[in-house]
Amino acid sequence: MTAAAGERGDGVGRDLPGAGADGTAGTIMRAEGTSCRIPRTREMAGGETVMDAPDETHDTPSVSEQARQQAEERLQASESRCRLLAENASDVIWTMSLDGRITYVSPSVERLRGFTPEEAMQQPLEEILTPPSAAITLDYFSRLEGLLQTGRPPERARNELEYRCKDGSTIWCDVHVLPVYSADGIPVELLGVSRDITAVKRGESAAKRSEERIRTMLQDLPVAIAVASLEPDQRILYRNTAFDRLFGWTPQEIPTHADWFVRAYPEEAYRRAVLDRWNAAIALAAEQQGQVTPHEFRVTSRDGRVKDVVIGGTVLDDRLICSFADVSERKRFEAELVQARDAAETANRALRKANAELQRVAVTDRLTGIRNRAYFEEAVAAQIARAARYDVPVSLLLLDLDCFKAINDTHGHLVGDRVLIELTRLIGGHLREVDVLARWGGEEFVILMPHCGAREAVHAAEKLRSLVADRVFPEVGTVTVSVGVAEYRLHESDDAWIKRADDALYAAKAGGRNRVCLADREMG
Ligand code: GH3
Ligand code: MG
Ligand code: MG
Repeated sequence: MTAAAGERGDGVGRDLPGAGADGTAGTIMRAEGTSCRIPRTREMAGGETVMDAPDETHDTPSVSEQARQQAEERLQASESRCRLLAENASDVIWTMSLDGRITYVSPSVERLRGFTPEEAMQQPLEEILTPPSAAITLDYFSRLEGLLQTGRPPERARNELEYRCKDGSTIWCDVHVLPVYSADGIPVELLGVSRDITAVKRGESAAKRSEERIRTMLQDLPVAIAVASLEPDQRILYRNTAFDRLFGWTPQEIPTHADWFVRAYPEEAYRRAVLDRWNAAIALAAEQQGQVTPHEFRVTSRDGRVKDVVIGGTVLDDRLICSFADVSERKRFEAELVQARDAAETANRALRKANAELQRVAVTDRLTGIRNRAYFEEAVAAQIARAARYDVPVSLLLLDLDCFKAINDTHGHLVGDRVLIELTRLIGGHLREVDVLARWGGEEFVILMPHCGAREAVHAAEKLRSLVADRVFPEVGTVTVSVGVAEYRLHESDDAWIKRADDALYAAKAGGRNRVCLADREMG
């Protein structure tokens, strides 16, 4: 490998020597003969490298022949050591005269580039380096020439250069170049060390490509993503399109994490609360190099709109990768849902109430407030079923006001109504819980008495009859009732049962009114 110039990956490196001293796409000159040797160097104060004086410096007449021979031997020993080092180094070591001729290339060049040292030393620059690296080298040489012409020392340099190999491939080398000085401080040569860094470079570019691929992938994801540095500068290193769309801040407006907080949470007390929670979450995640528990915050976007945003994240090395999900819509929807549910519940309650009222009305007699005939008929059907199943007695009382027409005629219909109301209260107040009192129609009433045989039913009817007869009704005085009683006979129909009670009532009327009659005189 021959000397050449390059540029450091970080852009701060200086150029390196390596091309023709004429500053053009220089042909690297072949070393003179095979006698090129590695200069012996030593560090000067200040880090410059000094080459021990070349051979002719040993011809000083003041040195005795013996001393000269000893010096010669020392020199040879030193040269052998240097050569041994150069020949066995895995890096390529090379030297170059200040006019751009390569004077030595170590054998390791063959392992790295496939060219023998002799071949390498004959190559023109464009065969040694790729065009960008060659251009850097040429640039260096024009500067080197300028320095030398004005008597200034050549530069030390370190750069990364891309070399061509015999098989057509390329390799990257980290190239150090340092000027070599004579004992009296004059630059005489350049010494270079080129180290193969291809693996590192390729790894770097693979990582770079992979990062670019990830960035491209993230760019158009529908979820907002931003990456911030966890270093003290807190820079926001990346934000995708969805992030910009969601919040609207330009990179200049939120260059750092801290700027984001000020803009996104303009209200100071809220910002402090957010920071407390968020920093604690990050600290926890950083400890475990893991996920930041998602938090919901109210974030202000550039247009002043406040959005409910769930922010989650992952701590990766010194970076925080955040995702932002706008849940404003969902929250609005949830609130609307709650409202709708409340309204539905209120409506339901009202409906249930109205229904209950309807049901009550449907089974209630409007004038007296007791059960109506429809209700009674259902109750009768239920009692018949029950009696059939359990063989328990149940009786029916049919009760009719005596000569009620006359009351109406004498006192008026309204007074008659009040009598009907008063009568139901009186009777209702003397029934058992299980008894069912209902208005059968007009001034007739029915009473269903579960668990009541004919005997008890007649007894109850008699009590009610006398209760009414003893009562003095306002405006009217006394009124009487006639009652027909019938105990249910197994398997008879409701109509048949009622008919028997009605017949009994008729008998009571016929018997002179204000009395109780048992159907079919079953009492025995
Ligand atoms: P009886 O002893 O034979 O039952 O004689 P009655 O007058 O009670 O019987 P009738 O069938 O001749 O007359 C019943 C009366 O009851 C006629 C009707 O005006 C009255 N009546 C029926 N329903 C109501 C009502 O809701 N209010 C009022 N004030 N009177 C009613
Ligand atoms: Mg009557
Ligand atoms: Mg009647």
